[in-house]
Amino acid sequence: MRNIRVRFAPSPTGALHIGGVRTALYNYLFAKKFGGAMILRIEDTDSARFVSGAEEYIIESLRWLNIKIDEGVGIGGQHAPYRQSERKGIYKQYVDFLVENNAAYIAFDTPEELDARRAEIPNFQYDASTRMKMKNSLSLSKAEVEELINGGKNYVVRFKIEPNQEVEVFDLIRGKIVVNSSVLDDKVLYKSADNLPTYHLANIVDDHLMEISHVIRGEEWLPSAPLHVLLYAAFGWADSMPQFAHLPLLLKPGGNGKLSKRDGDRLGFPVFPLNWKDPKTAEISAGYREAGYFPEALVNFLALLGWNPGTEQEIFAMDELIQLFSLDRVSKSGAKFDYEKAKWFNHKYLQMKTDEEITDEFNKILIEKNIIADTDTLIKIVALMKERATFIADLWEQCKFFFTAPQSYDEKAARKHWKEDSAQQMTELAKTLQNIDDFTATHTEAVVMQWITDNGYSLGAVMNVLRIALAGASKGPHLFDIMEIIGKNETLQRINKIVEIMASG
Ligand code: GLU
Repeated sequence: MRNIRVRFAPSPTGALHIGGVRTALYNYLFAKKFGGAMILRIEDTDSARFVSGAEEYIIESLRWLNIKIDEGVGIGGQHAPYRQSERKGIYKQYVDFLVENNAAYIAFDTPEELDARRAEIPNFQYDASTRMKMKNSLSLSKAEVEELINGGKNYVVRFKIEPNQEVEVFDLIRGKIVVNSSVLDDKVLYKSADNLPTYHLANIVDDHLMEISHVIRGEEWLPSAPLHVLLYAAFGWADSMPQFAHLPLLLKPGGNGKLSKRDGDRLGFPVFPLNWKDPKTAEISAGYREAGYFPEALVNFLALLGWNPGTEQEIFAMDELIQLFSLDRVSKSGAKFDYEKAKWFNHKYLQMKTDEEITDEFNKILIEKNIIADTDTLIKIVALMKERATFIADLWEQCKFFFTAPQSYDEKAARKHWKEDSAQQMTELAKTLQNIDDFTATHTEAVVMQWITDNGYSLGAVMNVLRIALAGASKGPHLFDIMEIIGKNETLQRINKIVEIMASG
Protein backbone atom coordinates (compact mmCIF):
# COMPACT_ATOMS: atom_id res chain seq x y z
CA MET A 1 0.00 0.00 0.00
CA ARG A 2 1.22 3.49 -0.71
CA ASN A 3 2.21 5.87 2.07
CA ILE A 4 -0.70 7.78 3.47
CA ARG A 5 -0.21 11.46 2.79
CA VAL A 6 -3.05 13.96 3.06
CA ARG A 7 -3.14 17.70 2.79
CA PHE A 8 -5.21 20.52 4.11
CA ALA A 9 -5.11 23.11 1.35
CA PRO A 10 -6.95 26.27 2.34
CA SER A 11 -6.94 29.50 0.38
CA PRO A 12 -6.09 32.47 2.59
CA THR A 13 -9.21 34.46 1.75
CA GLY A 14 -10.35 35.31 5.28
CA ALA A 15 -11.07 33.56 8.55
CA LEU A 16 -11.12 29.78 8.39
CA HIS A 17 -14.74 28.67 8.52
CA ILE A 18 -15.69 26.00 11.06
CA GLY A 19 -16.41 23.62 8.14
CA GLY A 20 -12.80 24.08 7.02
CA VAL A 21 -11.67 23.26 10.53
CA ARG A 22 -13.62 20.00 10.34
CA THR A 23 -11.97 19.22 6.99
CA ALA A 24 -8.55 19.77 8.56
CA LEU A 25 -9.52 17.59 11.53
CA TYR A 26 -10.73 14.68 9.38
CA ASN A 27 -7.55 14.85 7.30
CA TYR A 28 -5.51 14.78 10.48
CA LEU A 29 -7.44 11.87 12.03
CA PHE A 30 -7.17 9.89 8.82
CA ALA A 31 -3.43 10.52 8.45
CA LYS A 32 -2.60 9.69 12.06
CA LYS A 33 -4.73 6.56 12.06
CA PHE A 34 -2.50 5.16 9.33
CA GLY A 35 0.73 6.67 10.60
CA GLY A 36 0.73 8.99 7.60
CA ALA A 37 1.66 12.61 7.04
CA MET A 38 -0.53 15.69 7.34
CA ILE A 39 0.52 18.48 5.01
CA LEU A 40 -0.49 22.13 5.12
CA ARG A 41 -0.46 23.76 1.70
CA ILE A 42 -1.54 27.34 1.25
CA GLU A 43 -3.35 27.84 -2.06
CA ASP A 44 -2.81 31.51 -2.71
CA THR A 45 -2.59 31.74 -6.49
CA ASP A 46 -5.67 33.97 -6.69
CA SER A 47 -4.09 37.24 -5.63
CA ALA A 48 -7.38 39.13 -5.97
CA ARG A 49 -8.83 37.10 -3.12
CA PHE A 50 -5.76 37.18 -0.89
CA VAL A 51 -6.43 38.55 2.59
CA SER A 52 -3.53 39.46 4.82
CA GLY A 53 -3.45 37.71 8.16
CA ALA A 54 -5.52 34.79 6.91
CA GLU A 55 -2.58 32.38 6.68
CA GLU A 56 -1.43 33.19 10.22
CA TYR A 57 -5.01 32.75 11.38
CA ILE A 58 -5.21 29.29 9.81
CA ILE A 59 -1.94 28.19 11.39
CA GLU A 60 -2.92 29.54 14.80
CA SER A 61 -6.32 27.83 14.61
CA LEU A 62 -4.78 24.44 13.88
CA ARG A 63 -2.21 24.92 16.62
CA TRP A 64 -4.92 25.82 19.15
CA LEU A 65 -6.92 22.72 18.23
CA ASN A 66 -3.89 20.45 18.42
CA ILE A 67 -4.19 19.46 14.76
CA LYS A 68 -0.53 18.89 14.08
CA ILE A 69 1.10 19.49 10.75
CA ASP A 70 3.97 17.24 9.66
CA GLU A 71 4.98 19.16 6.56
CA GLY A 72 3.99 22.48 5.21
CA VAL A 73 3.93 26.22 5.50
CA GLY A 74 5.73 27.33 8.65
CA ILE A 75 7.34 23.89 9.05
CA GLY A 76 8.97 23.00 5.77
CA GLY A 77 9.55 19.50 4.44
CA GLN A 78 10.83 17.50 1.50
CA HIS A 79 8.48 19.25 -0.96
CA ALA A 80 9.01 22.83 0.22
CA PRO A 81 7.91 25.47 -0.51
CA TYR A 82 4.29 24.75 0.42
CA ARG A 83 2.87 28.17 -0.35
CA GLN A 84 1.71 28.10 -3.97
CA SER A 85 2.70 31.70 -4.65
CA GLU A 86 6.28 30.59 -3.94
CA ARG A 87 5.95 27.68 -6.35
CA LYS A 88 5.24 29.89 -9.36
CA GLY A 89 8.28 28.63 -11.26
CA ILE A 90 7.14 25.03 -10.99
CA TYR A 91 3.79 25.24 -12.77
CA LYS A 92 4.62 26.67 -16.20
CA GLN A 93 6.33 23.53 -17.49
CA TYR A 94 3.19 21.51 -16.70
CA VAL A 95 1.02 24.01 -18.54
CA ASP A 96 3.39 23.85 -21.51
CA PHE A 97 3.29 20.06 -21.43
CA LEU A 98 -0.48 20.06 -21.82
CA VAL A 99 -0.36 22.58 -24.67
CA GLU A 100 2.36 20.64 -26.49
CA ASN A 101 0.33 17.46 -26.13
CA ASN A 102 -2.78 19.08 -27.52
CA ALA A 103 -4.57 18.64 -24.19
CA ALA A 104 -4.79 22.37 -23.67
CA TYR A 105 -4.77 25.47 -25.84
CA ILE A 106 -4.07 29.17 -25.69
CA ALA A 107 -7.05 31.55 -25.68
CA PHE A 108 -7.03 35.31 -26.22
CA ASP A 109 -10.68 36.22 -25.66
CA THR A 110 -10.98 39.34 -23.55
CA PRO A 111 -13.56 39.52 -20.76
CA GLU A 112 -15.60 41.85 -23.02
CA GLU A 113 -15.52 39.37 -25.87
CA LEU A 114 -16.60 36.58 -23.55
CA ASP A 115 -19.47 38.70 -22.26
CA ALA A 116 -20.57 39.41 -25.80
CA ARG A 117 -20.65 35.69 -26.56
CA ARG A 118 -22.63 35.00 -23.42
CA ALA A 119 -25.20 37.57 -24.46
CA GLU A 120 -25.38 36.13 -27.95
CA ILE A 121 -25.47 32.37 -27.27
CA PRO A 122 -27.96 31.02 -24.69
CA ASN A 123 -26.27 28.98 -21.92
CA PHE A 124 -22.90 29.75 -23.43
CA GLN A 125 -20.12 27.46 -22.31
CA TYR A 126 -16.53 27.59 -23.55
CA ASP A 127 -16.25 24.01 -24.79
CA ALA A 128 -16.09 21.76 -27.85
CA SER A 129 -19.34 23.23 -29.17
CA THR A 130 -18.12 26.83 -29.09
CA ARG A 131 -14.34 26.89 -28.99
CA MET A 132 -13.88 27.10 -32.77
CA LYS A 133 -15.91 30.30 -32.77
CA MET A 134 -13.61 31.84 -30.19
CA LYS A 135 -10.20 33.46 -30.39
CA ASN A 136 -7.71 30.74 -29.56
CA SER A 137 -4.86 28.62 -30.84
CA LEU A 138 -7.33 26.09 -32.23
CA SER A 139 -9.28 28.60 -34.30
CA LEU A 140 -6.39 30.89 -35.31
CA SER A 141 -3.38 30.07 -37.44
CA LYS A 142 -0.02 29.45 -35.88
CA ALA A 143 1.27 32.71 -37.28
CA GLU A 144 -1.65 34.67 -35.83
CA VAL A 145 -1.09 33.10 -32.44
CA GLU A 146 2.61 33.92 -32.50
CA GLU A 147 1.91 37.44 -33.54
CA LEU A 148 -0.52 37.99 -30.69
CA ILE A 149 1.85 36.53 -28.12
CA ASN A 150 4.82 38.48 -29.43
CA GLY A 151 2.71 41.61 -29.41
CA GLY A 152 2.34 41.13 -25.67
CA LYS A 153 -1.34 40.20 -25.72
CA ASN A 154 -2.54 38.56 -22.52
CA TYR A 155 -3.79 35.03 -22.84
CA VAL A 156 -5.01 32.13 -20.79
CA VAL A 157 -4.46 28.42 -21.23
CA ARG A 158 -7.62 26.36 -21.31
CA PHE A 159 -7.99 22.64 -20.77
CA LYS A 160 -9.34 20.97 -23.90
CA ILE A 161 -12.13 18.69 -22.80
CA GLU A 162 -13.19 16.03 -25.27
CA PRO A 163 -16.98 15.95 -25.39
CA ASN A 164 -19.20 12.95 -24.72
CA GLN A 165 -16.87 10.94 -22.58
CA GLU A 166 -18.05 9.22 -19.43
CA VAL A 167 -15.83 10.48 -16.64
CA GLU A 168 -15.79 8.27 -13.58
CA VAL A 169 -14.99 9.62 -10.15
CA PHE A 170 -14.53 7.16 -7.30
CA ASP A 171 -15.29 8.78 -4.01
CA LEU A 172 -14.62 6.92 -0.78
CA ILE A 173 -17.74 8.41 0.80
CA ARG A 174 -20.09 8.66 -2.15
CA GLY A 175 -19.02 5.72 -4.28
CA LYS A 176 -18.82 5.91 -8.06
CA ILE A 177 -20.03 9.08 -9.76
CA VAL A 178 -20.26 9.26 -13.54
CA VAL A 179 -20.35 12.58 -15.34
CA ASN A 180 -20.57 13.22 -19.07
CA SER A 181 -17.66 15.42 -20.10
CA SER A 182 -19.95 17.53 -22.30
CA VAL A 183 -21.28 19.29 -19.21
CA LEU A 184 -17.78 20.49 -18.34
CA ASP A 185 -16.28 23.66 -19.75
CA ASP A 186 -12.74 24.23 -20.96
CA LYS A 187 -11.44 25.49 -17.62
CA VAL A 188 -8.74 28.12 -17.46
CA LEU A 189 -5.56 26.56 -16.09
CA TYR A 190 -3.14 29.44 -16.39
CA LYS A 191 -3.14 33.20 -16.89
CA SER A 192 -0.25 34.92 -18.65
CA ALA A 193 -1.16 38.27 -17.06
CA ASP A 194 0.21 37.22 -13.67
CA ASN A 195 2.10 34.15 -14.84
CA LEU A 196 0.11 32.07 -12.36
CA PRO A 197 -1.81 28.84 -12.64
CA THR A 198 -5.43 28.71 -11.50
CA TYR A 199 -6.60 26.63 -8.55
CA HIS A 200 -7.29 23.55 -10.68
CA LEU A 201 -3.86 23.24 -12.21
CA ALA A 202 -1.86 24.14 -9.13
CA ASN A 203 -3.98 21.82 -7.00
CA ILE A 204 -3.43 18.80 -9.27
CA VAL A 205 0.26 19.42 -9.90
CA ASP A 206 0.96 19.90 -6.21
CA ASP A 207 -1.06 16.89 -5.11
CA HIS A 208 0.98 14.87 -7.58
CA LEU A 209 4.38 16.32 -6.67
CA MET A 210 3.66 16.09 -2.95
CA GLU A 211 2.63 12.44 -3.39
CA ILE A 212 -0.78 12.97 -1.85
CA SER A 213 -2.58 9.66 -1.40
CA HIS A 214 -6.02 10.95 -0.33
CA VAL A 215 -7.82 14.18 -1.09
CA ILE A 216 -10.28 14.74 1.75
CA ARG A 217 -12.16 17.99 1.26
CA GLY A 218 -15.54 19.68 1.43
CA GLU A 219 -18.45 18.69 -0.76
CA GLU A 220 -18.29 22.03 -2.54
CA TRP A 221 -15.29 20.67 -4.45
CA LEU A 222 -17.10 17.60 -5.75
CA PRO A 223 -18.08 19.35 -9.03
CA SER A 224 -14.36 19.89 -9.73
CA ALA A 225 -13.52 16.23 -9.29
CA PRO A 226 -14.34 15.07 -12.88
CA LEU A 227 -12.11 17.81 -14.26
CA HIS A 228 -9.37 16.74 -11.88
CA VAL A 229 -9.69 13.12 -13.02
CA LEU A 230 -9.29 14.28 -16.64
CA LEU A 231 -6.28 16.39 -15.72
CA TYR A 232 -4.55 13.45 -14.03
CA ALA A 233 -5.18 11.42 -17.17
CA ALA A 234 -3.85 14.18 -19.42
CA PHE A 235 -0.62 14.28 -17.44
CA GLY A 236 -0.34 10.50 -17.53
CA TRP A 237 -0.68 10.31 -13.76
CA ALA A 238 -3.90 8.31 -13.59
CA ASP A 239 -2.18 5.42 -11.80
CA SER A 240 -0.98 7.55 -8.92
CA MET A 241 -4.10 9.67 -8.68
CA PRO A 242 -5.11 10.28 -5.06
CA GLN A 243 -8.34 8.81 -3.80
CA PHE A 244 -11.12 11.30 -3.24
CA ALA A 245 -13.36 11.73 -0.22
CA HIS A 246 -15.82 14.62 -0.28
CA LEU A 247 -17.16 15.48 3.15
CA PRO A 248 -20.83 16.30 3.71
CA LEU A 249 -21.87 19.91 4.15
CA LEU A 250 -22.38 21.52 7.51
CA LEU A 251 -26.00 22.62 7.47
CA LYS A 252 -27.84 25.45 9.18
CA PRO A 253 -29.23 24.48 12.60
CA GLY A 254 -32.69 24.31 10.97
CA GLY A 255 -31.28 21.95 8.35
CA ASN A 256 -32.09 23.99 5.25
CA GLY A 257 -28.96 24.95 3.36
CA LYS A 258 -25.34 25.50 4.14
CA LEU A 259 -24.25 26.96 7.48
CA SER A 260 -23.21 30.57 7.03
CA LYS A 261 -21.72 33.32 9.11
CA ARG A 262 -25.12 34.97 9.09
CA ASP A 263 -26.66 31.97 10.88
CA GLY A 264 -24.09 32.42 13.61
CA ASP A 265 -24.79 36.15 13.87
CA ARG A 266 -28.54 35.57 13.89
CA LEU A 267 -28.54 32.76 16.44
CA GLY A 268 -25.60 33.96 18.49
CA PHE A 269 -22.80 31.46 17.98
CA PRO A 270 -19.36 31.62 16.36
CA VAL A 271 -18.64 30.03 12.99
CA PHE A 272 -14.90 30.61 13.29
CA PRO A 273 -12.39 28.92 15.57
CA LEU A 274 -10.74 32.16 16.77
CA ASN A 275 -11.82 35.78 16.82
CA TRP A 276 -11.19 37.32 13.43
CA LYS A 277 -10.73 40.96 12.67
CA ASP A 278 -11.44 41.76 9.05
CA PRO A 279 -8.42 43.79 7.90
CA LYS A 280 -10.55 45.93 5.58
CA THR A 281 -13.65 46.68 7.64
CA ALA A 282 -12.09 46.14 11.09
CA GLU A 283 -15.24 44.16 11.88
CA ILE A 284 -14.64 41.49 14.52
CA SER A 285 -16.22 38.06 14.21
CA ALA A 286 -16.46 35.83 17.25
CA GLY A 287 -14.38 32.70 17.64
CA TYR A 288 -14.81 29.57 19.72
CA ARG A 289 -11.58 30.13 21.62
CA GLU A 290 -12.57 33.57 22.85
CA ALA A 291 -16.12 32.38 23.57
CA GLY A 292 -14.56 30.12 26.21
CA TYR A 293 -14.45 26.76 24.46
CA PHE A 294 -11.85 24.19 25.30
CA PRO A 295 -10.07 23.05 22.13
CA GLU A 296 -10.69 19.39 22.99
CA ALA A 297 -14.42 20.07 23.30
CA LEU A 298 -14.56 21.75 19.90
CA VAL A 299 -12.57 18.90 18.34
CA ASN A 300 -14.92 16.32 19.87
CA PHE A 301 -17.99 18.25 18.69
CA LEU A 302 -16.66 18.65 15.13
CA ALA A 303 -15.53 15.04 14.89
CA LEU A 304 -19.13 13.92 15.36
CA LEU A 305 -20.55 16.40 12.83
CA GLY A 306 -20.60 14.07 9.87
CA TRP A 307 -18.89 11.03 11.35
CA ASN A 308 -20.03 8.58 14.00
CA PRO A 309 -18.26 5.68 15.67
CA GLY A 310 -21.30 3.39 15.43
CA THR A 311 -21.69 3.28 19.21
CA GLU A 312 -23.44 5.45 21.79
CA GLN A 313 -20.15 6.87 23.05
CA GLU A 314 -19.89 10.63 22.62
CA ILE A 315 -16.82 11.75 24.52
CA PHE A 316 -13.56 11.09 22.71
CA ALA A 317 -10.06 12.33 23.27
CA MET A 318 -8.01 13.03 20.13
CA ASP A 319 -6.16 9.71 20.46
CA GLU A 320 -9.41 7.78 20.55
CA LEU A 321 -10.72 9.66 17.55
CA ILE A 322 -7.55 8.77 15.67
CA GLN A 323 -8.01 5.11 16.53
CA LEU A 324 -11.69 4.95 15.64
CA PHE A 325 -11.95 7.30 12.67
CA SER A 326 -12.76 5.84 9.29
CA LEU A 327 -14.01 7.39 6.10
CA ASP A 328 -16.68 4.74 5.66
CA ARG A 329 -18.43 6.02 8.75
CA VAL A 330 -18.60 9.54 7.34
CA SER A 331 -22.16 10.25 6.25
CA LYS A 332 -23.17 11.23 2.74
CA SER A 333 -25.84 13.63 3.91
CA GLY A 334 -25.23 17.03 5.45
CA ALA A 335 -24.75 17.43 9.18
CA LYS A 336 -26.97 19.89 11.03
CA PHE A 337 -24.99 22.33 13.11
CA ASP A 338 -26.36 21.94 16.61
CA TYR A 339 -24.88 24.70 18.71
CA GLU A 340 -26.50 23.46 21.92
CA LYS A 341 -24.51 20.29 21.43
CA ALA A 342 -21.29 22.31 21.22
CA LYS A 343 -22.14 23.80 24.61
CA TRP A 344 -23.00 20.37 25.96
CA PHE A 345 -19.53 19.15 25.02
CA ASN A 346 -17.89 22.13 26.67
CA HIS A 347 -19.86 21.50 29.84
CA LYS A 348 -18.73 17.88 29.81
CA TYR A 349 -15.09 18.82 29.27
CA LEU A 350 -15.26 21.38 32.04
CA GLN A 351 -16.51 18.68 34.43
CA MET A 352 -13.59 16.44 33.43
CA LYS A 353 -11.04 19.03 34.53
CA THR A 354 -9.69 18.85 38.05
CA ASP A 355 -10.87 21.44 40.57
CA GLU A 356 -7.30 22.75 40.64
CA GLU A 357 -7.21 23.27 36.87
CA ILE A 358 -10.54 25.09 36.89
CA THR A 359 -9.43 27.15 39.88
CA ASP A 360 -6.33 28.31 38.01
CA GLU A 361 -8.45 29.57 35.14
CA PHE A 362 -11.15 31.04 37.34
CA ASN A 363 -8.55 32.86 39.39
CA LYS A 364 -7.50 34.77 36.27
CA ILE A 365 -11.00 36.21 36.04
CA LEU A 366 -10.93 37.11 39.73
CA ILE A 367 -7.58 38.83 39.42
CA GLU A 368 -8.99 40.96 36.61
CA LYS A 369 -11.72 42.00 39.01
CA ASN A 370 -9.16 42.77 41.69
CA ILE A 371 -10.36 39.95 43.88
CA ILE A 372 -7.68 38.17 45.80
CA ALA A 373 -8.94 34.83 47.03
CA ASP A 374 -7.28 32.10 48.99
CA THR A 375 -6.60 29.07 46.77
CA ASP A 376 -8.04 26.45 49.12
CA THR A 377 -11.25 28.42 49.42
CA LEU A 378 -11.40 28.84 45.67
CA ILE A 379 -11.00 25.12 45.14
CA LYS A 380 -13.93 24.51 47.52
CA ILE A 381 -16.06 27.03 45.66
CA VAL A 382 -15.16 25.48 42.32
CA ALA A 383 -15.99 21.97 43.55
CA LEU A 384 -19.36 23.22 44.69
CA MET A 385 -20.25 25.24 41.61
CA LYS A 386 -18.62 23.72 38.51
CA GLU A 387 -21.57 21.46 37.72
CA ARG A 388 -23.58 24.58 36.86
CA ALA A 389 -21.00 26.04 34.49
CA THR A 390 -20.61 25.51 30.74
CA PHE A 391 -17.70 27.93 30.47
CA ILE A 392 -15.13 29.01 33.04
CA ALA A 393 -16.50 32.54 32.72
CA ASP A 394 -19.94 31.35 33.88
CA LEU A 395 -18.40 30.73 37.27
CA TRP A 396 -18.21 34.43 38.03
CA GLU A 397 -21.96 35.08 37.74
CA GLN A 398 -22.66 31.92 39.67
CA CYS A 399 -20.12 32.46 42.40
CA LYS A 400 -19.84 36.17 42.87
CA PHE A 401 -21.84 36.15 46.10
CA PHE A 402 -18.99 34.22 47.69
CA PHE A 403 -16.75 37.22 47.18
CA THR A 404 -19.04 40.19 47.65
CA ALA A 405 -22.21 40.48 49.72
CA PRO A 406 -25.37 40.90 47.63
CA GLN A 407 -25.84 44.57 46.82
CA SER A 408 -29.53 44.04 46.28
CA TYR A 409 -31.98 41.15 46.47
CA ASP A 410 -33.89 39.49 43.71
CA GLU A 411 -37.14 41.41 44.03
CA LYS A 412 -39.56 38.67 43.15
CA ALA A 413 -37.92 36.21 45.49
CA ALA A 414 -37.77 38.71 48.33
CA ARG A 415 -41.43 39.65 47.91
CA LYS A 416 -42.43 36.02 47.87
CA HIS A 417 -40.43 34.79 50.83
CA TRP A 418 -40.09 37.74 53.21
CA LYS A 419 -42.94 37.32 55.71
CA GLU A 420 -44.11 39.18 58.75
CA ASP A 421 -42.08 37.05 61.12
CA SER A 422 -38.96 36.87 58.92
CA ALA A 423 -37.21 39.78 60.65
CA GLN A 424 -37.69 38.26 64.08
CA GLN A 425 -36.58 34.80 62.89
CA MET A 426 -33.45 36.14 61.22
CA THR A 427 -32.49 38.17 64.27
CA GLU A 428 -32.86 35.07 66.41
CA LEU A 429 -30.93 32.99 63.91
CA ALA A 430 -28.07 35.48 63.99
CA LYS A 431 -27.92 35.17 67.76
CA THR A 432 -27.91 31.39 67.55
CA LEU A 433 -25.09 31.40 65.01
CA GLN A 434 -23.15 33.95 67.04
CA ASN A 435 -22.65 31.29 69.70
CA ILE A 436 -21.15 28.72 67.33
CA ASP A 437 -17.40 28.44 67.03
CA ASP A 438 -17.23 25.47 64.71
CA PHE A 439 -18.56 26.90 61.47
CA THR A 440 -18.23 23.79 59.30
CA ALA A 441 -21.29 23.02 57.18
CA THR A 442 -22.24 19.87 59.05
CA HIS A 443 -22.06 21.58 62.41
CA THR A 444 -24.00 24.73 61.53
CA GLU A 445 -26.59 22.61 59.76
CA ALA A 446 -27.17 20.50 62.87
CA VAL A 447 -27.48 23.57 65.08
CA VAL A 448 -29.82 25.44 62.76
CA MET A 449 -32.03 22.38 62.24
CA GLN A 450 -32.32 21.91 65.99
CA TRP A 451 -33.18 25.59 66.46
CA ILE A 452 -35.92 25.35 63.80
CA THR A 453 -37.43 22.24 65.41
CA ASP A 454 -37.25 23.65 68.92
CA ASN A 455 -39.16 26.75 67.85
CA GLY A 456 -41.60 25.04 65.55
CA TYR A 457 -40.58 27.24 62.59
CA SER A 458 -41.17 26.31 58.99
CA LEU A 459 -37.98 24.93 57.50
CA GLY A 460 -38.82 26.32 54.04
CA ALA A 461 -39.60 29.80 55.30
CA VAL A 462 -36.30 30.10 57.19
CA MET A 463 -34.18 28.60 54.44
CA ASN A 464 -35.64 30.72 51.68
CA VAL A 465 -34.98 33.95 53.51
CA LEU A 466 -31.54 32.83 54.60
CA ARG A 467 -30.69 31.99 51.00
CA ILE A 468 -31.72 35.43 49.79
CA ALA A 469 -29.68 37.01 52.59
CA LEU A 470 -26.54 35.08 51.68
CA ALA A 471 -26.77 34.78 47.88
CA GLY A 472 -29.17 37.59 46.92
CA ALA A 473 -31.59 35.26 45.11
CA SER A 474 -33.34 31.91 45.33
CA LYS A 475 -30.43 30.04 43.86
CA GLY A 476 -27.05 28.71 44.77
CA PRO A 477 -25.62 25.63 46.41
CA HIS A 478 -26.22 24.09 49.81
CA LEU A 479 -26.68 26.97 52.27
CA PHE A 480 -24.44 25.59 54.96
CA ASP A 481 -21.64 25.17 52.44
CA ILE A 482 -21.97 28.85 51.59
CA MET A 483 -21.79 29.71 55.29
CA GLU A 484 -18.68 27.62 55.82
CA ILE A 485 -16.94 29.29 52.90
CA ILE A 486 -17.79 32.90 53.65
CA GLY A 487 -17.31 32.36 57.41
CA LYS A 488 -19.06 33.41 60.55
CA ASN A 489 -18.56 37.17 60.41
CA GLU A 490 -19.71 37.53 56.86
CA THR A 491 -22.71 35.24 57.46
CA LEU A 492 -23.84 37.31 60.44
CA GLN A 493 -23.33 40.56 58.56
CA ARG A 494 -25.43 39.36 55.66
CA ILE A 495 -28.25 38.18 57.94
CA ASN A 496 -28.25 41.46 59.85
CA LYS A 497 -28.24 43.38 56.61
CA ILE A 498 -31.33 41.70 55.20
CA VAL A 499 -33.20 42.47 58.40
CA GLU A 500 -32.16 46.08 58.18
CA ILE A 501 -33.00 46.48 54.51
CA MET A 502 -36.27 44.56 54.44
CA ALA A 503 -37.54 46.12 57.67
CA SER A 504 -36.93 49.61 56.35
CA GLY A 505 -38.24 48.82 52.86
N1 GLU B 1 -7.91 25.77 -1.95
C1 GLU B 1 -9.11 24.99 -1.87
C2 GLU B 1 -9.90 25.52 -0.68
O1 GLU B 1 -9.78 26.65 -0.38
C3 GLU B 1 -8.73 23.54 -1.70
C4 GLU B 1 -9.73 22.55 -2.16
C5 GLU B 1 -9.08 21.19 -2.13
O2 GLU B 1 -8.84 20.71 -1.00
O3 GLU B 1 -8.78 20.62 -3.17
O4 GLU B 1 -10.66 24.84 -0.04
